[in-house]
Amino acid sequence: MDTTISHWINGKPQDGQSARFGSVFDPASGTEIARVPFASSAEVDRAVAAARAAFPAWRDKSLTRRTQILFRFRGLLEEAREELAAIVSRQHGKTLPDAQGEVQRGLEVVEFACGAPHLLKGENSQQVSTGVDLASVREPVGVVGCITPFNFPAMVPLWMFPIAIACGNTVVLKPSEKTPSAAIFLAELFSKAGLPEGVFNVIHGDRVAVERILDHPDVAAISFVGSTPVARAISEKGTGNGKRVQALGGAKNHMLVLPDADLDVAADAAISAGYGSAGERCMAISVVVAVGDVAERLIPRLEERIAKLHVGPADDPAAEMGPLISREHRDRVVAYIDSGVEEGATLVADGRGLRVPGHAGGFFVGPTLFDHVEPHMHIYRGEIFGPVLCVVRVEQFTEAIDLVNRNRWANGTAIFTNDGGAARRFQREIQVGMIGINVPIPVPLGFYSFGGWKESLFGSHSIYGPEGVHFYTRPKVVTTRWVDPVHRGVDLGFPRAE
Ligand code: NAD
Repeated sequence: MDTTISHWINGKPQDGQSARFGSVFDPASGTEIARVPFASSAEVDRAVAAARAAFPAWRDKSLTRRTQILFRFRGLLEEAREELAAIVSRQHGKTLPDAQGEVQRGLEVVEFACGAPHLLKGENSQQVSTGVDLASVREPVGVVGCITPFNFPAMVPLWMFPIAIACGNTVVLKPSEKTPSAAIFLAELFSKAGLPEGVFNVIHGDRVAVERILDHPDVAAISFVGSTPVARAISEKGTGNGKRVQALGGAKNHMLVLPDADLDVAADAAISAGYGSAGERCMAISVVVAVGDVAERLIPRLEERIAKLHVGPADDPAAEMGPLISREHRDRVVAYIDSGVEEGATLVADGRGLRVPGHAGGFFVGPTLFDHVEPHMHIYRGEIFGPVLCVVRVEQFTEAIDLVNRNRWANGTAIFTNDGGAARRFQREIQVGMIGINVPIPVPLGFYSFGGWKESLFGSHSIYGPEGVHFYTRPKVVTTRWVDPVHRGVDLGFPRAE
């Protein structure tokens, strides 16, 4: 074991006060590589107090100065991108190119946040009534609590804190206890960029820390990304406590393949989006909906590609897919595969027996493919979050649309076709937040916003992009009359424009 990880409060590492600890593993070997402290309520209170104390000065710091710090942070992050990707890869197990992609997507949001002076421009209307002007400005909400999942240890925190901070808020981040080090690395970089103490704090922990953030009266807003049951609970408790909450949950993303599609293109896309990051992406494709005669022609193409996939530890340059995050999660994924076999789906490729030489203790499951999956089966109903691709066969395009629209999740979806009319109909009729047309993982760029519908997002704001700016600010509207040559006298009627 090489290290004990610290909290980060008031611009410094904070050690030695947590009574409980968790283990961080190298998922490729199954060995413990670090210990992570689990914050008590009192430690959370210290972090919130630091954020609260830093808020007035940060809110009042000129936009120009705030933006200069963001630009410096962006520069340092660009320089350190390889180092950060290596940290992500080591604790998560995803391959280095995958981790580099994650860092790049996070960097995009920092670049968006560097536009704060433009993004925070208000609105102004003159002479809305005689002698009266109207202006609307957006002000920061205060202390923002950010709670993030294990699967994007750098990118998901970067979806949140750069925009919250650019808007003049201060932040307490609680990253996943399974992949905690990327958040501390980001906090150190931001501090080097000149961020004042207390503006960005990181506390590690589990449910105890999250519950305290939700209950703390000085936390004004919560950004959460994680599984649906936790997202729902966070949303209910946070809003019940009077906070604004955006809580992004799980997913079951379907990819429709129509008979006219180029099936080699579709097969490449399904394999990349199904098995990339071992399926541990909220935008992973987990269901391929094969319309008409597609399955007969597509399945051999998928099998051929699966046979060539190289699974291994992240430090193997040939590896295209790494292990799962934990022993428990691997066992859960294997149990799903068992249930698919028991319920009568056709197991085309079985990843359960995969052995990676020299890594017997690693949390590996190989790429797994099921055909003839039915909507009542567990493998269809649950979020497996592993390298398991399910093919559902339907006769008609309309059945495929109904299938997607009946699903309780609605994060992303994709269609593969060369028929523009079908693609347009899909785009208009599908009840999902993010849609790809011949694009399997349609994650919007940093200057748009990311968010699903239904049980993939609780709250009314998507994350980052313009929706992020709105979430982290509240509007203040100022009605001004400076010059009024007419004495109006007392008027108890409701104000109206004249
Ligand atoms: P998770 O819900 O287990 O954990 C997320 C965060 O919540 C972690 O910081 C964790 O410590 C905390 N947490 C866990 N259980 C809690 C509880 N009972 N009470 C309070 N806090 C709790 O999720 P995970 O396993 O880390 O991540 C995988 C999940 O995240 C998948 O469901 C995936 O789809 C989802 N995800 C969604 C998006 C999206 O944008 N919609 C993005 C990435 C991941």
